[in-house]
Amino acid sequence: MKAKSIQQILLPPAPHMVGDGFRVHNFFPTGYNIGKNRMSPFFMMDYNSKIDFSPRENPRGVGVHPHRGFETVTIVYHGKVAHHDSTGNSGVISEGDVQWMTAASGILHKEYHEEEFSKKGGPFQMIQLWVNLPAKDKMSKPKYQAITNDQLGKYQLDNGGVVEVIAGEFKGVKGAASTFTPIEMYNAKIKKGAAVTFDLPENFNTGILVVEGAVKVNGEKAPADNFILFKNEGETISIEAEEDSILFVISGEPINEPIAAYGPFLMNTHEELEQALEDFNKGKFGYLED
Ligand code: MN
Repeated sequence: MKAKSIQQILLPPAPHMVGDGFRVHNFFPTGYNIGKNRMSPFFMMDYNSKIDFSPRENPRGVGVHPHRGFETVTIVYHGKVAHHDSTGNSGVISEGDVQWMTAASGILHKEYHEEEFSKKGGPFQMIQLWVNLPAKDKMSKPKYQAITNDQLGKYQLDNGGVVEVIAGEFKGVKGAASTFTPIEMYNAKIKKGAAVTFDLPENFNTGILVVEGAVKVNGEKAPADNFILFKNEGETISIEAEEDSILFVISGEPINEPIAAYGPFLMNTHEELEQALEDFNKGKFGYLED
């Protein structure tokens, strides 16, 4: 198989606050203007690089807001995030855990630092990814997958490293999340000096975020907080870890449909966006106390 070509290694764009709890670098779609469909089915990636939050009584975060037409995937590396939604689901996403929430036809939710974490303060690091849904699934029933670290598929690497399989499959180890379209998603924890190879289909849109450490990717150096964007050429990605490293690997089959995006809604047409807004204003997304 042929090496997957690197399009660009992207530095983290200037951060902005989401509510008062998330200080994020938006790698796409706006951070680098790479296009709404360039990473399809992944529409948006916000990365809260590791920062210390000072202790606070009232947890920081984002209040009640809607979503329709896609899924939010939250991966926590440091700190804890508390979540509540209008379907009655709630939970705490702790270090190493993943929350895969299917907003689909519509939910309201709120996302805050977990109370005890907020009181203590400390390092906080997480990713939120928006995964688009194909037209036929956009109005399906909301769904919630709370995936704790012990539920992730795990492939042991040499000298103590591990590939945690969130979705898809790595060397026969299956991911924990169910997805609507073909998606590969891993956390690769690689010890200094070790190597790992990923084979991902040429047509899948693929990227790797260096969450921790420093690696060589197909021979090119990539430090922490950088995102490696791959061309749709070749399959094989060869990683060598120059330090103990954590990589967030995403790869998915593109959804070849038009995208109409407005704020928290991700649909195919402008009319559907107007419908979403109207339904939200009519209270059709349910109720959630602030
Ligand atoms: Mn949200």
